[in-house]
Amino acid sequence: MYKAVIFDRDGTLNHTAPKEQGGYALSPEDIILMPTVAESMQRLAERGIHRLVYTQQKCVGKGLLTEEGLDAVNGQLNRLLPKDAQIEYFAYCPHHLPDTCECAKPKPGMITGLLRQFKLKPEEAIAIGDSKRDKLSAEAAGIDFLYVQSDDTSKHSDYDESDRVFKTLEEALSSLGF
Ligand SMILES: [Mg+2]
Ligand SMILES: [Zn+2]
Repeated sequence: MYKAVIFDRDGTLNHTAPKEQGGYALSPEDIILMPTVAESMQRLAERGIHRLVYTQQKCVGKGLLTEEGLDAVNGQLNRLLPKDAQIEYFAYCPHHLPDTCECAKPKPGMITGLLRQFKLKPEEAIAIGDSKRDKLSAEAAGIDFLYVQSDDTSKHSDYDESDRVFKTLEEALSSLGF
């Protein structure tokens, strides 16, 4: 049984920010939860399952958002969740040029770091995301993965026949027995 769920953030937990700002959530007001996210976190928390995030935030490397600003955006996401069911840790890759780091998706660095930090074996964690690089990163880290359908419909064509794709996070968790 899984001990942790590692979530992509944008398009998975919160709606993708407007295209005019590059799809980046740049202020707390940009965080609007996707359907069923709050109650899903509650279900996980009640079962003692870790709730972690792996998120690509190139906007920091591009100079559009400071790390303090990113903390404020992540903090807002947590404020929208039940108090005892918040995200325990946000792993993020701030790098603009993916070749210069080991954390940029589809590399496994953020996930392997979380596994170390929370003392988890790969088989004890599953990642949930909305884009192909989320899946590739999970595969590279050796953990299971499933999709919650993105609010960005351009990503839907990335999903393969063999992928497990769910309309909502609640449905995805139900399929795991949560
Ligand atoms: Mg995403
Ligand atoms: Zn990075």
